[in-house]
Amino acid sequence: MRVALSIAGSDPTGGAGLQADLQVFRALGVHGTGAVTALTVQDTAKIHQVLPAFPNVVLDQIRVLLRDITPHAVKIGMLAGDDGVRAVALGLAELEAPPAGPPLVIDPVLAASDGTPLLERRALPALAELCARAALVTPNLAEAEALTGIDVATRAGVEAAARALVEELGAGAGLVTGGHAEGAPDDCLALREGSGVALRWLPGERIAAGAVHGTGCALASAAAAHLALGRDLLGAVAAARAFVADSLRRAEAVGSGARLLGLA
Ligand code: PLP
Repeated sequence: MRVALSIAGSDPTGGAGLQADLQVFRALGVHGTGAVTALTVQDTAKIHQVLPAFPNVVLDQIRVLLRDITPHAVKIGMLAGDDGVRAVALGLAELEAPPAGPPLVIDPVLAASDGTPLLERRALPALAELCARAALVTPNLAEAEALTGIDVATRAGVEAAARALVEELGAGAGLVTGGHAEGAPDDCLALREGSGVALRWLPGERIAAGAVHGTGCALASAAAAHLALGRDLLGAVAAARAFVADSLRRAEAVGSGARLLGLA
Protein backbone atom coordinates (compact mmCIF):
# COMPACT_ATOMS: atom_id res chain seq x y z
CA MET A 1 0.00 0.00 0.00
CA ARG A 2 1.33 3.42 -0.93
CA VAL A 3 0.63 6.11 1.65
CA ALA A 4 0.46 9.91 1.41
CA LEU A 5 0.07 12.22 4.40
CA SER A 6 -1.87 15.48 4.17
CA ILE A 7 -1.29 18.15 6.78
CA ALA A 8 -4.07 20.65 6.15
CA GLY A 9 -7.14 22.49 7.34
CA SER A 10 -10.57 20.91 7.52
CA ASP A 11 -13.14 21.94 4.91
CA PRO A 12 -16.54 20.43 5.77
CA THR A 13 -17.72 20.72 2.13
CA GLY A 14 -15.04 18.25 1.05
CA GLY A 15 -14.21 20.59 -1.82
CA ALA A 16 -10.88 21.77 -0.43
CA GLY A 17 -8.57 21.15 2.51
CA LEU A 18 -7.93 17.82 4.17
CA GLN A 19 -11.21 16.21 3.09
CA ALA A 20 -10.45 16.98 -0.56
CA ASP A 21 -6.84 15.80 -0.27
CA LEU A 22 -7.94 12.42 1.09
CA GLN A 23 -10.41 12.02 -1.78
CA VAL A 24 -7.71 12.88 -4.32
CA PHE A 25 -5.37 10.31 -2.77
CA ARG A 26 -8.11 7.67 -2.94
CA ALA A 27 -8.95 8.55 -6.55
CA LEU A 28 -5.28 7.96 -7.43
CA GLY A 29 -5.04 4.67 -5.54
CA VAL A 30 -3.05 5.95 -2.57
CA HIS A 31 -4.01 5.53 1.09
CA GLY A 32 -4.38 8.92 2.79
CA THR A 33 -3.39 9.75 6.33
CA GLY A 34 -4.16 13.21 7.67
CA ALA A 35 -3.31 15.71 10.40
CA VAL A 36 -5.66 18.67 10.94
CA THR A 37 -4.15 22.15 11.36
CA ALA A 38 -7.39 24.12 11.61
CA LEU A 39 -11.14 23.78 11.64
CA THR A 40 -13.16 25.95 9.31
CA VAL A 41 -16.88 26.61 9.29
CA GLN A 42 -17.71 26.92 5.61
CA ASP A 43 -20.16 26.10 2.87
CA THR A 44 -19.62 26.30 -0.88
CA ALA A 45 -20.46 30.03 -0.82
CA LYS A 46 -18.05 31.28 1.83
CA ILE A 47 -15.94 30.67 4.91
CA HIS A 48 -17.84 31.63 8.05
CA GLN A 49 -15.16 30.98 10.67
CA VAL A 50 -11.56 29.76 11.02
CA LEU A 51 -10.34 28.10 14.20
CA PRO A 52 -6.63 27.12 14.24
CA ALA A 53 -5.85 23.89 16.07
CA PHE A 54 -3.64 24.14 19.17
CA PRO A 55 -0.04 23.99 17.84
CA ASN A 56 0.92 21.32 20.41
CA VAL A 57 -1.95 19.15 19.13
CA VAL A 58 -0.80 19.66 15.53
CA LEU A 59 2.68 18.55 16.57
CA ASP A 60 1.36 15.57 18.56
CA GLN A 61 -0.83 14.37 15.67
CA ILE A 62 2.17 14.37 13.32
CA ARG A 63 4.65 12.88 15.80
CA VAL A 64 2.41 10.04 16.94
CA LEU A 65 1.34 9.26 13.37
CA LEU A 66 4.85 9.33 11.90
CA ARG A 67 6.22 7.05 14.62
CA ASP A 68 3.67 4.50 13.43
CA ILE A 69 3.08 4.99 9.69
CA THR A 70 5.78 6.32 7.36
CA PRO A 71 4.22 7.96 4.29
CA HIS A 72 5.70 7.77 0.79
CA ALA A 73 4.95 11.48 0.28
CA VAL A 74 3.71 14.41 2.36
CA LYS A 75 1.45 17.27 1.27
CA ILE A 76 1.12 20.46 3.27
CA GLY A 77 -1.81 22.85 2.83
CA MET A 78 -3.37 25.46 5.12
CA LEU A 79 -1.27 26.04 8.25
CA ALA A 80 -3.26 28.94 9.76
CA GLY A 81 -0.63 30.51 12.03
CA ASP A 82 3.04 31.05 12.74
CA ASP A 83 2.91 28.53 15.63
CA GLY A 84 1.21 26.06 13.31
CA VAL A 85 4.02 26.32 10.74
CA ARG A 86 6.62 25.76 13.45
CA ALA A 87 4.70 22.79 14.86
CA VAL A 88 4.61 21.18 11.40
CA ALA A 89 8.35 21.81 10.87
CA LEU A 90 9.06 20.15 14.23
CA GLY A 91 6.76 17.22 13.46
CA LEU A 92 8.44 16.60 10.10
CA ALA A 93 11.77 16.24 11.91
CA GLU A 94 10.52 12.68 12.66
CA LEU A 95 11.10 11.87 8.98
CA GLU A 96 14.36 11.13 7.24
CA ALA A 97 15.31 13.78 4.69
CA PRO A 98 14.92 12.83 1.01
CA PRO A 99 16.10 10.87 -0.90
CA ALA A 100 15.78 8.32 1.94
CA GLY A 101 12.70 10.03 3.39
CA PRO A 102 9.45 10.97 1.61
CA PRO A 103 9.23 13.99 -0.71
CA LEU A 104 7.29 17.00 0.57
CA VAL A 105 4.84 19.04 -1.54
CA ILE A 106 3.85 22.43 -0.14
CA ASP A 107 0.75 24.31 -1.28
CA PRO A 108 1.49 27.65 0.40
CA VAL A 109 -2.13 28.50 1.20
CA LEU A 110 -2.54 32.15 2.16
CA ALA A 111 -6.22 32.93 1.57
CA ALA A 112 -9.40 31.40 0.20
CA SER A 113 -10.94 32.54 -3.08
CA ASP A 114 -13.48 34.60 -1.09
CA GLY A 115 -10.54 36.53 0.46
CA THR A 116 -10.65 34.94 3.91
CA PRO A 117 -7.06 34.75 5.26
CA LEU A 118 -6.01 31.15 5.91
CA LEU A 119 -2.48 32.00 7.08
CA GLU A 120 -1.59 34.89 9.37
CA ARG A 121 0.72 37.37 7.68
CA ARG A 122 3.54 37.04 10.22
CA ALA A 123 3.79 33.31 9.45
CA LEU A 124 5.20 33.99 5.95
CA PRO A 125 8.90 33.84 6.95
CA ALA A 126 8.41 30.48 8.72
CA LEU A 127 6.53 29.12 5.69
CA ALA A 128 9.29 30.37 3.37
CA GLU A 129 11.81 28.57 5.58
CA LEU A 130 9.80 25.33 5.38
CA CYS A 131 10.04 25.51 1.56
CA ALA A 132 13.75 24.59 1.81
CA ARG A 133 12.60 21.04 2.69
CA ALA A 134 10.14 20.78 -0.18
CA ALA A 135 10.58 18.72 -3.33
CA LEU A 136 7.86 20.93 -4.86
CA VAL A 137 6.11 24.19 -3.91
CA THR A 138 2.91 25.03 -5.81
CA PRO A 139 1.96 28.70 -5.26
CA ASN A 140 -0.61 30.56 -7.31
CA LEU A 141 0.46 34.02 -8.49
CA ALA A 142 -0.50 35.86 -5.28
CA GLU A 143 1.22 33.23 -3.13
CA ALA A 144 4.36 33.30 -5.31
CA GLU A 145 4.54 37.08 -4.95
CA ALA A 146 4.05 36.94 -1.17
CA LEU A 147 6.68 34.21 -0.71
CA THR A 148 9.36 35.71 -2.95
CA GLY A 149 8.59 39.43 -2.85
CA ILE A 150 8.78 39.46 -6.67
CA ASP A 151 6.11 41.26 -8.72
CA VAL A 152 4.44 38.62 -10.90
CA ALA A 153 2.47 40.98 -13.16
CA THR A 154 4.57 39.96 -16.19
CA ARG A 155 5.74 36.61 -17.54
CA ALA A 156 9.32 37.61 -16.74
CA GLY A 157 8.22 38.30 -13.17
CA VAL A 158 6.58 34.88 -12.90
CA GLU A 159 9.77 33.26 -14.19
CA ALA A 160 11.86 35.19 -11.65
CA ALA A 161 9.52 34.15 -8.82
CA ALA A 162 9.57 30.47 -9.88
CA ARG A 163 13.37 30.61 -10.04
CA ALA A 164 13.54 32.28 -6.60
CA LEU A 165 11.50 29.44 -5.05
CA VAL A 166 14.42 27.15 -5.95
CA GLU A 167 17.44 29.49 -5.76
CA GLU A 168 16.45 31.62 -2.76
CA LEU A 169 14.00 29.50 -0.78
CA GLY A 170 15.76 26.22 -1.54
CA ALA A 171 12.88 24.11 -2.86
CA GLY A 172 13.64 21.30 -5.31
CA ALA A 173 11.09 22.75 -7.71
CA GLY A 174 8.58 25.59 -7.87
CA LEU A 175 5.39 25.47 -9.90
CA VAL A 176 3.75 28.90 -10.15
CA THR A 177 0.21 28.30 -11.31
CA GLY A 178 -1.50 30.76 -13.61
CA GLY A 179 -5.07 29.47 -13.39
CA HIS A 180 -6.25 32.46 -11.37
CA ALA A 181 -4.77 34.94 -13.86
CA GLU A 182 -6.57 36.53 -16.77
CA GLY A 183 -5.39 35.23 -20.11
CA ALA A 184 -3.66 31.93 -20.73
CA PRO A 185 -3.64 29.77 -17.58
CA ASP A 186 -0.06 28.60 -18.14
CA ASP A 187 2.05 27.36 -15.24
CA CYS A 188 5.76 28.12 -14.85
CA LEU A 189 7.94 25.30 -13.51
CA ALA A 190 11.42 25.90 -12.13
CA LEU A 191 13.36 22.72 -11.51
CA ARG A 192 16.73 22.30 -9.85
CA GLU A 193 19.11 20.72 -12.38
CA GLY A 194 22.64 20.13 -11.13
CA SER A 195 23.86 23.47 -9.83
CA GLY A 196 21.40 25.43 -11.98
CA VAL A 197 17.68 25.89 -12.49
CA ALA A 198 15.75 24.84 -15.59
CA LEU A 199 12.65 26.90 -16.38
CA ARG A 200 9.76 25.77 -18.53
CA TRP A 201 6.27 27.00 -19.28
CA LEU A 202 3.57 24.35 -19.14
CA PRO A 203 0.68 25.45 -21.34
CA GLY A 204 -2.73 25.35 -19.73
CA GLU A 205 -6.19 25.25 -21.20
CA ARG A 206 -8.93 27.58 -19.93
CA ILE A 207 -11.80 25.35 -18.85
CA ALA A 208 -15.07 27.24 -18.44
CA ALA A 209 -16.16 25.75 -15.14
CA GLY A 210 -17.13 28.97 -13.34
CA ALA A 211 -16.09 29.34 -9.69
CA VAL A 212 -14.62 26.04 -8.53
CA HIS A 213 -13.48 25.24 -5.03
CA GLY A 214 -10.18 23.56 -4.17
CA THR A 215 -8.17 23.45 -7.39
CA GLY A 216 -4.93 24.39 -5.57
CA CYS A 217 -5.48 21.68 -2.95
CA ALA A 218 -6.19 19.10 -5.66
CA LEU A 219 -3.10 19.99 -7.72
CA ALA A 220 -0.71 19.65 -4.77
CA SER A 221 -2.32 16.51 -3.37
CA ALA A 222 -2.39 14.85 -6.80
CA ALA A 223 1.32 15.65 -7.23
CA ALA A 224 2.01 14.18 -3.76
CA ALA A 225 0.01 11.04 -4.64
CA HIS A 226 1.99 10.55 -7.86
CA LEU A 227 5.28 11.05 -6.00
CA ALA A 228 4.05 8.48 -3.45
CA LEU A 229 3.46 6.10 -6.37
CA GLY A 230 7.10 6.53 -7.35
CA ARG A 231 6.86 8.93 -10.27
CA ASP A 232 9.64 11.44 -10.80
CA LEU A 233 8.93 15.11 -10.27
CA LEU A 234 8.22 16.05 -13.89
CA GLY A 235 5.92 13.05 -14.29
CA ALA A 236 4.09 13.83 -11.06
CA VAL A 237 3.58 17.49 -12.07
CA ALA A 238 2.29 16.53 -15.52
CA ALA A 239 -0.06 13.88 -14.10
CA ALA A 240 -1.36 16.25 -11.39
CA ARG A 241 -2.09 19.00 -13.95
CA ALA A 242 -3.96 16.55 -16.17
CA PHE A 243 -5.91 15.28 -13.13
CA VAL A 244 -7.01 18.81 -12.17
CA ALA A 245 -7.99 19.63 -15.79
CA ASP A 246 -10.12 16.45 -16.00
CA SER A 247 -11.66 17.15 -12.59
CA LEU A 248 -12.49 20.73 -13.66
CA ARG A 249 -14.28 19.39 -16.74
CA ARG A 250 -16.42 17.23 -14.45
CA ALA A 251 -17.03 19.93 -11.82
CA GLU A 252 -20.59 20.11 -10.53
CA ALA A 253 -22.70 22.56 -8.56
CA VAL A 254 -23.47 20.38 -5.56
CA GLY A 255 -24.17 23.29 -3.21
CA SER A 256 -25.38 26.84 -3.87
CA GLY A 257 -21.90 28.40 -4.18
CA ALA A 258 -18.68 27.31 -5.90
CA ARG A 259 -18.71 24.06 -7.83
CA LEU A 260 -16.87 21.02 -6.52
CA LEU A 261 -14.25 19.24 -8.60
CA GLY A 262 -15.44 15.95 -10.12
CA LEU A 263 -12.35 14.01 -9.11
CA ALA A 264 -11.35 11.97 -12.11
N1 PLP B 1 -10.63 25.72 3.20
C1 PLP B 1 -9.46 25.12 3.39
C2 PLP B 1 -9.26 24.30 4.62
C3 PLP B 1 -8.44 25.27 2.43
O1 PLP B 1 -7.25 24.68 2.61
C4 PLP B 1 -8.68 26.06 1.27
C5 PLP B 1 -7.67 26.27 0.24
O2 PLP B 1 -6.57 25.85 0.30
C6 PLP B 1 -9.91 26.68 1.14
C7 PLP B 1 -10.86 26.48 2.12
C8 PLP B 1 -10.25 27.58 0.01
O3 PLP B 1 -10.36 26.98 -1.17
P1 PLP B 1 -10.80 27.88 -2.40
O4 PLP B 1 -9.94 29.08 -2.38
O5 PLP B 1 -10.56 27.02 -3.57
O6 PLP B 1 -12.22 28.24 -2.20
